Amino acid sequence: MGRIFDSKGKLKIPAREVRGEELVVKKALCPEGHNLITDQHIINGYPGIELAFRRENGQEGMVVLSPILGDRTTICLKGHVDEGESVKFLCPVCEKPLPILTTCDYCGEGNIYVLFLDTDFSFNNAITFCSKKGCPNSTIRRSDRIITAISF
Ligand SMILES: [Zn+2]
Ligand SMILES: [Zn+2]
Repeated sequence: MGRIFDSKGKLKIPAREVRGEELVVKKALCPEGHNLITDQHIINGYPGIELAFRRENGQEGMVVLSPILGDRTTICLKGHVDEGESVKFLCPVCEKPLPILTTCDYCGEGNIYVLFLDTDFSFNNAITFCSKKGCPNSTIRRSDRIITAISF
């Protein structure tokens, strides 16, 4: 058995092999199968995820999220969202509301929205993000992590 602590007493965490593409989403589908990845808007070198949104007051807009897991960069194409405001997200192609998995476990106010990574449309093979601007969960995450956390 290898030692689990290094010489300084720190826990050794085995380096997980992560291929570059696992950290960047190449496909993000609405329930109708529209791929919301757009090469019209590049964020930190990668095509972003374009979403339509609707505010509580009815105003509509468009935003591009970073396709990189955990990256907070966004581009607001149209409209405006205040810091701390939660909006409804829609597919910009079919304009259907995007599915909601649960309430955000971090801010308790935002909804955790889901985009599918493949045409199996499985919640286990998806990315999630909180609808509240400024919430740490508003960056995209792999859904299997949050599904494990809420364990249903
Ligand atoms: Zn759609
Ligand atoms: Zn949140």
